[in-house]
Amino acid sequence: MVEIRKPIPVKEAVQLVMDHVEPLQTEIIPLEKAYGRVLAEPIIAKHDVPPFDRSPYDGFAIRSEDSTGASGDNRIAFKVIGEIGAGYVAERGIKKHESYRIMTGALIPENADAVVMLEQTKEDGEGFTIRKPFLKNENISFRGEDAQQGEVLIEAGSLIHPGTIALLATFGYAEVNVSKQPIAGILSTGTELLRVDEELVPGKIRNSNGPMITAQLARMGIAHRSYGMLIDDLDACTEVVEKALKETDLLITTGGVSVGDYDYLPAIYERLGAKVLFNKVAMRPGSVTTVAVLGNKLLFGLSGNPSACFTGFELFTRPAILRMMKNNAPYMPRMRAKLGEDFTKPNPFTRFVRAIWEMTPEGIVATPAGFNKSNAVSSIARGNCIIVLPSGTRGYTKGTDIDVLLLGSEQGVSEWTL
Ligand code: AMP
Ligand code: MG
Repeated sequence: MVEIRKPIPVKEAVQLVMDHVEPLQTEIIPLEKAYGRVLAEPIIAKHDVPPFDRSPYDGFAIRSEDSTGASGDNRIAFKVIGEIGAGYVAERGIKKHESYRIMTGALIPENADAVVMLEQTKEDGEGFTIRKPFLKNENISFRGEDAQQGEVLIEAGSLIHPGTIALLATFGYAEVNVSKQPIAGILSTGTELLRVDEELVPGKIRNSNGPMITAQLARMGIAHRSYGMLIDDLDACTEVVEKALKETDLLITTGGVSVGDYDYLPAIYERLGAKVLFNKVAMRPGSVTTVAVLGNKLLFGLSGNPSACFTGFELFTRPAILRMMKNNAPYMPRMRAKLGEDFTKPNPFTRFVRAIWEMTPEGIVATPAGFNKSNAVSSIARGNCIIVLPSGTRGYTKGTDIDVLLLGSEQGVSEWTL
C-alpha cells in the first residue's frame, strides 16, 4: 500500500530543519585562513581608526589662521620647512606661515590644522602661495572618524568576507575565533547510476547529483566526504549511511525518497531510528524532499531528480550548514522582479523555477531558464536565480511582480520571508 504523506509548507519545513541544527564548536585559526568562515565573536575596535589625525591628500600642512584673508588679489605665502612622508613623523611643530609638504596618510604635524591640496597652490621661492582661506580642520582625516575604540563593528555570526579580513587585519588579529566547519557526507543512490567516466548503456544515466552537490558545498567553502554511488539495496545502503553518519557532521543522500518499490531511504531512517522531520513539502520540484535527524545529525534525503535535488539543497541544506556555524544570515537573499514570460501551469504547490535574472530598461526581469520539470538538468546549468511562484489555481502572466531567490550570493539574509 502506498503511504499517504501530508505536505507541509516550505516555510514550516525550513523552520523544522533550522530548529534541529546542532551548532558546532569554535576554533582559533590564522587570519590567512579566515576568509569564508563565520566569526565566533564580535569585532570590537581595539583602537581608534585612523589611530592618528592624518592627511587625506598630498599637499601642505598649514595653520588655518595663517590663511585668513587669502584671495586672488591677495595671495598668502607659506614657507616649506620640510617633508612628511607616510609613516614618518615631523621633527617639530609649525610656526606662523610655515608648512610641511605632507603625503597622503602622513601624521599631521603639531600646530597644523588644515591641509592645502597640491593643486590649490602655486610654487613660490622657498614655498608656495594660496588664493583662498582654509578653515580649521579642512582636509584632515581625524583620529577615530572611521571607528572608535570599544565600538562593536561586526557582530558574531557574520560571514568573514574580504572586507571583514581588512578590518581584522586593521586591529591586529593575526588569529581569529571562528566556528568550526562541518564535513558533509554525500551519497548518491540509484541502480541506474553510472560514474561520470562511464559510457552510457541502455537504462542507465550518469550520476550528476553527486558532483553537483559537491560543487554546491564547495561554493560555500564546505568540505565533503564522498560515499560514491550505491545500487538500490536496503542492506548495502543502510550500512553506508551508518558508516557515513559516524564520519561526518551531516549526510546528504540523493534519490530513493519517493514511494517507489526501490526507494529505500524511508526504511533506512526507520531501521536507524532516525526521526523524520518531514517527508513531503508543498513545493515543486522536490515535494518528496525528506529530512531526518539522528542524535545531533541531520540527514538530508534529497530527490534524485536533478532540479529537485539542487533546489532541496539550496532551500534546506545550505541554511542548515550555515546555522551549524551560527551564521546569522543563512538564507538566500531575495529580490523582486518581473516575470519574463507567461508561466501557464497552475501550481498546487509553491513552485521554484530555475531562471535567469537580468537588468533591462523595464527593471529587473527574471525569465525561466528553459525546460523546467523536476528532472531537468539543463535549466539548472543556465539559471542564476530561482523564481518563486506561490501556489494558486491560475498560472502567471509575463510582467507579474514575483519574488526571486539569488544563487551563489556570499552574504545571505537573517530571515526566511517566503
Ligand atoms: P529517485 O529520487 O530515486 O526516485 O529518482 C528520481 C529520478 O532522478 C530518476 O529518474 C533517477 O534516475 C534520477 N536520478 C536519481 N539519482 C540521480 C543522480 N545521482 N543523478 C542524476 N539523476 C538521478
Ligand atoms: Mg532512485
